[in-house]
Amino acid sequence: MKINHQNESRSPYVFLASIDELLIMTDFNRNEIIKSANEAITRSGGPSKAKVYFKFTCIGCGMRCTFKDPNVLYEKGQCYNCGSEIVIDKASFMLLINP
Ligand SMILES: [Zn+2]
Repeated sequence: MKINHQNESRSPYVFLASIDELLIMTDFNRNEIIKSANEAITRSGGPSKAKVYFKFTCIGCGMRCTFKDPNVLYEKGQCYNCGSEIVIDKASFMLLINP
């Protein structure tokens, strides 16, 4: 699977790819997704250059929610759409590169 790097030199922030776009909204269990996130950060130049934002799906309304704090996968999250408090046992992430 190819990731498009075309805009890398033009934009100060580059969304390379969101893992759930690549994998069609598949969430992974916490250990797997934390491991993948650490690998993605390392591959992308380390924590000074790359951040991840974890995402989860609300079981109340089905909305995809993204944590606003980078590099933190909380035990629970609140859905921004319906307000449900979700225990997060599965998640994905979005990788953000700041060159
Ligand atoms: Zn919801």
